[in-house]
Amino acid sequence: MPRARSAAAADGAVGAAAHAHALALVALHAPSVDPANGDARRLRRLLAHELAHVLAAERTGSVKRLGDGNRGMRLAEWVDEGFAVNLAAAVTAEPGIIDSARSRASGVPMSDDALAAAFRDLNAPERSSAFAIATARVWRALQAHGLAFVFEHLSDPERWTQR
Ligand SMILES: [Zn+2]
Repeated sequence: MPRARSAAAADGAVGAAAHAHALALVALHAPSVDPANGDARRLRRLLAHELAHVLAAERTGSVKRLGDGNRGMRLAEWVDEGFAVNLAAAVTAEPGIIDSARSRASGVPMSDDALAAAFRDLNAPERSSAFAIATARVWRALQAHGLAFVFEHLSDPERWTQR
């Protein structure tokens, strides 16, 4: 059985989801560590976001481990993050999150390679734009194809992306 401490992927400073074949783990900062998490709605959104990562990993047969360069992941990081943001916004009924991402992504050109690079580097200046673009792309796919289809084909975004 995999050890929990070897299977973790930080999601910025706010939370983490880990997934191995026999174990899934979500970790969030308690309000005593991050007072912003005293906001129950924010905490629900973060929990939904991290659970979306676990579901995506489970669906695609991925394994997340800290520091392995996402070797075990079978979906692109932009797909993983875009899916998690969309699912969390739906769970907490906060469409403003999607509206804001779509507005920020509009007219911002970013190649797939640049998108991948921005997600690999936690300090990349383009990281915020990358999240917005990923969120907007997955949102468009969800509108066009529905959640079941997108979830079924998370590893194969060519089937549902329209650039
Ligand atoms: Zn995430």
